[in-house]
Amino acid sequence: MSEQRCLFCRIIAKEIPAKIVHEDDDVIAFEDINPQAPTHILVIPRRHIASTDEMTSSDTETVGRVVLVGAEIARKLRLESGGYRLVSNCGEAAGQTVFHIHFHLLGGRAFSWPPG
Ligand code: 5GP
Ligand code: ZN
Repeated sequence: MSEQRCLFCRIIAKEIPAKIVHEDDDVIAFEDINPQAPTHILVIPRRHIASTDEMTSSDTETVGRVVLVGAEIARKLRLESGGYRLVSNCGEAAGQTVFHIHFHLLGGRAFSWPPG
């Protein structure tokens, strides 16, 4: 299935190199290739889900684990005192370019709201 061969599925399969910062049975996290903050890590499930719009109730635990890993990495990097952002873009108009659900963990600088 072509869906199985998306860019992030290829990173999971180690066909494309990435600076991996966390790996477990369900979740991997790696540094963004084009960082938008001093810390910019992508946290993704191993299982391909295209976006939050594709989520069903059977994905609740998987995506919950992705969010928890994001929070654990933030704690490990001591980002929480300065604040951080853990965000997922859904759809092209919202800035999604890779259609394998992912959460951006951004930290190490101040962030404005609302985002552009
Ligand atoms: P999106 O725009 O879909 O919310 O986020 C996709 C992210 O993936 C972007 O921040 C982009 O910089 C990152 N990205 C795109 N290609 C690669 C790659 O080959 N390796 C890594 N590590 N990050 C990538
Ligand atoms: Zn994928």
